[in-house]
Amino acid sequence: MDKNKKEQEKKKNWLGFQKKERIERIEMLENNDFLDKNTKKILLENENLPLEIANQITENNIATFSLPMGIAPNFLIDGKEYAVPMVTEEPSVIAAASYAAKIISKCKGFKTIALDRKMIGEIALYDIIDFEKAKNLILKNENKILEIANEAYPSIVKRGGGAICLEIKKLENFLVVYLTVDVKEAMGANILNTMLEGIKPLLEEITNSTALMGILSNYATKSLVTATCEIDSKLLGGNHVAKKIDLASKFAKIDTYRAATHNKGIFNGIDAVVIATGNDWRGIEAAGHAFAAKNGKYEGLTTWTFDEKINKLKGELTLPMPVASVGGSIGLNPSVTAAFDILKNPSAIELAKIIVSVGLAQNLAAIKALVTTGIQKGHMKLQARTLALFSGAKDGEVDLVVNTILEKKLIINSENIKNILEEIRNI
Ligand code: NDP
Repeated sequence: MDKNKKEQEKKKNWLGFQKKERIERIEMLENNDFLDKNTKKILLENENLPLEIANQITENNIATFSLPMGIAPNFLIDGKEYAVPMVTEEPSVIAAASYAAKIISKCKGFKTIALDRKMIGEIALYDIIDFEKAKNLILKNENKILEIANEAYPSIVKRGGGAICLEIKKLENFLVVYLTVDVKEAMGANILNTMLEGIKPLLEEITNSTALMGILSNYATKSLVTATCEIDSKLLGGNHVAKKIDLASKFAKIDTYRAATHNKGIFNGIDAVVIATGNDWRGIEAAGHAFAAKNGKYEGLTTWTFDEKINKLKGELTLPMPVASVGGSIGLNPSVTAAFDILKNPSAIELAKIIVSVGLAQNLAAIKALVTTGIQKGHMKLQARTLALFSGAKDGEVDLVVNTILEKKLIINSENIKNILEEIRNI
């Protein structure tokens, strides 16, 4: 067997991962070649954001705040296997992502495409007398304006990026100037905002108008990423399930009440990876929800179609995904460094592809559960765990309490959990 094949086979050993102890999981990650020594130490010691850094990066600091980090293994994306770090306080999210990723990995995994990787910022001008004249004057001076933008942030030009072009649109009484910038590995908010501040006076001067504001747009339509997959219907439980998933995706396109929840489920996965990698999840959420309304109506973001001729369910998710591999607080938080290392230090585009794939997997798991068993079955077990913890159950007692309440088929509420805990303690 050649070395590459051996490596691949070694990486695929996730047997019993979810049932292991924390330390064993870390060892399994290491054995599967997803950890280096430094990251292993960070994880073993549960190293978090140091207080002195927390005090520097936000204001009025009094403490740091923790969330659980887990791993969703079995993500096969463009032929490469990933163990995806996810940070979330919501039960069942990581299990659902792992479950869907495993099914999809049996069907050649996710295929992705990054359509572009640029950011857009805008300046809104008002008090304009002649819009056509103002527009023509801006276009006539485009090169000069781009030059000034680049002079305002020269280091991004040195890195091979920089301001690229202007677009102009009249929106009621505003003339809006959109600036497109190649921000390389950064998310680009500070880069764009600095450039926009730099060109504002010149735009005002050329057009004899007033600038209301200059700011990055989180509607990152020049950073779109698409993830797709094709799943054999038998792996989903048969054609009838695949057809229902197809229907559920159509339903989410037409009912806003469902669309909001459908997309919330997608962001359960997306946010978890965005947070783990130290990215700005508010920006990613804003971009995603704006994109969901791109057709003039808020819609479900995924599209699932069942192809009866080949018995395959095809899934697609396209989203603006302007995540970064540098900048912001990335590199300051040891947990973020660990997450990047587990992902084998992806570039910004590779990370965006991983995140959109996780969103697609998360959605598949959620709607498959909804159209078959319903999601409460899995959720109630986790709810029982949470209630057991709230009732004071210790590590060794939690599983016992949960198993007992499920075996006895009692209603899962705090009273029943407390009674069972007492019974166990009195044995
Ligand atoms: P930074 O201001 O941190 O800028 C990027 C940094 O990364 C620069 O210091 C740059 O170095 C460095 N860098 C190293 N390598 C590269 C590379 N290959 N490509 C690009 N940069 C590189 O971050 P951003 O401008 O990306 O802004 C993101 C931050 O802004 C986030 O914290 C976000 O929360 C926040 N923000 C978001 C807003 C929004 O979303 N609307 C608004 C305002 C702020 P060098 O200095 O040498 O160029």
